[in-house]
Amino acid sequence: MGIKILAPEVAAKIAAGEVVERPSSVVKELLENSLDAAATQITIEVQGGGTQLIRVTDDGHGIPAQDVNLAFYRHATSKLSDASDLDSIATMGFRGEALPSIAAVARVSMVTRPHDAEVGREVHLGWGEEVRSSPKGCSQGTSVAVQGLFENLPARRKFLKSASGERSRISDLVTRYALAFPEVGFRLVVDGRNTLTSPGNGSLADALVSVYGADTAGSLLEVSWEDTGDGYGVRGFISSPSMHRANRTYITFLVNRRWIQSPLLSFALAESYQGFLPERRHPLTVLNLSVPLADADVNVHPAKREVRFLQENSVFSALQRGVRAALVAFSPVPEMSSAGAPTAGTGPTTDSTAARFNPSTGAMWDGQQRSMPLDSALVQDDPTPVEAMSSLRILGQIRNTYLVAEGTDGMYLLDQHAAHERVLFEKVSKEVAGQTPQSQALLEPESVELSTAQEEIVQSSAGLLERFGFVLEPFGERTYLLRAVPAVVTDAHGGKALLEVLDLMAYEGLLREREETLAASIACHSAVRAGMGLSQVEMEELVHQLQSCDSPHTCPHGRPTIVHLSSHHLEREFGRR
Ligand code: ADP
Ligand code: MG
Repeated sequence: MGIKILAPEVAAKIAAGEVVERPSSVVKELLENSLDAAATQITIEVQGGGTQLIRVTDDGHGIPAQDVNLAFYRHATSKLSDASDLDSIATMGFRGEALPSIAAVARVSMVTRPHDAEVGREVHLGWGEEVRSSPKGCSQGTSVAVQGLFENLPARRKFLKSASGERSRISDLVTRYALAFPEVGFRLVVDGRNTLTSPGNGSLADALVSVYGADTAGSLLEVSWEDTGDGYGVRGFISSPSMHRANRTYITFLVNRRWIQSPLLSFALAESYQGFLPERRHPLTVLNLSVPLADADVNVHPAKREVRFLQENSVFSALQRGVRAALVAFSPVPEMSSAGAPTAGTGPTTDSTAARFNPSTGAMWDGQQRSMPLDSALVQDDPTPVEAMSSLRILGQIRNTYLVAEGTDGMYLLDQHAAHERVLFEKVSKEVAGQTPQSQALLEPESVELSTAQEEIVQSSAGLLERFGFVLEPFGERTYLLRAVPAVVTDAHGGKALLEVLDLMAYEGLLREREETLAASIACHSAVRAGMGLSQVEMEELVHQLQSCDSPHTCPHGRPTIVHLSSHHLEREFGRR
């Protein structure tokens, strides 16, 4: 077949495919147009999962009569005028592709009126037809209705999820925008039912309540890392370590308020939570990064889902510092509550989150139900963690596993293993960071037999092992003599600790992440076990060491080291209040 230039309608369909992948892409583009038009109120109506109808109505500045037809031409935009504008894009849109792309794959009608026009205009077009418009009385702003999406593209239609799948994508999307723009009121109406209403009063905290319910929203921690002169900063909310999820659905990143997906940011976030969350659990976050416009290239993805950063390091460190500071400042002593029943909350108001999100389990560890849930909503009344820890009087030990103590406000229980793990983890981490590993020579060198994979690691990462205080010497085929171990490791556990550390090292990751994993593993191996009797002096020493930790309230895997039963609670339980 010879080469020929494609007919315009074929080219338009191909181009549209990049922008309009599914119903939620239409919603995204229309929402962004409304936001760019400085709308304060946006209503999104959806029928049949978006394939029957998507209508977005705003009270923004509208389109002047003479420009209405132009808006539907490819590369027609009011947001850029020359190429240099591409270097600092402050609007959501800039490609001038959304309206023509949507019109190439659906029937579109629009009514719009700028505030200074007496009468508005109405446009109908579909599947790439000529644009025709006529005068029409309407209120200020713009309303775009999209019907019969992909009816002319059966192949694309086949790839859509069920109506409920598409609905939940749309709902998810609107949720993110409601969080990104708390000063704008969003209303989502699905098949005639109001499923999300955000207040639009400018408060992110209030927007969070409308999306996730009061319980969850109330237990989030505020992040506010102001730009330190370089234009980078981060603001938003993150979950405390006691609240976590099995997947990343609840992580929202915005860059200059544009919702994006970014492996870089996901990774930086995971690193920030290292030591605060159990493995393979994820936080709930809404974080907006401020990045100088000239340092963020948003023109890298047709649907504008990604951003390229000029200074990846600055982004990375702003995020980490902000998140870490919030976590450390508020690493709470979790409250014990005797009320086993789920607390009544307003609950989430979007139907997509309702199915997956249960506020009553929000504060559980490892997703397992406990008879005494840790009520993270109450901890905000607690004395600051440091105060609570500094005045503990040890009363004794239960089941050789938990320490019982009295403190400033009631009773505290400590998990001796978790507490000791935290102490050792920070000790080892500090030694490694300061390049002063404390190593102890074994009286009797221990011979350890390694697998080929383990031996491979010994050879390739000898330096790292040494930094932790392991000293090994080859001794025959795949056999090594272990001569020294990190000082915190008890003699009897040296070989076992080494083998576990080697297995962990097989994991490919950034050096710092690996170091933390290794430190956590060494701490776990060396910490006192549950079931071990401790003397009064040992218990006091342990609590004393825990007090001086940076993050005393969780073990390196994110479990609590200490829980609290407040005086108020005790009084209530015994009917004194
Ligand atoms: P882009 O947003 O990239 O400029 P679009 O195809 O999405 O391209 O929109 C084309 C133009 O139509 C916009 O630049 C804007 O001037 C106008 N427009 C679209 N939607 C709206 C709206 N809701 N309110 C006001 N103007 C709009
Ligand atoms: Mg647009």
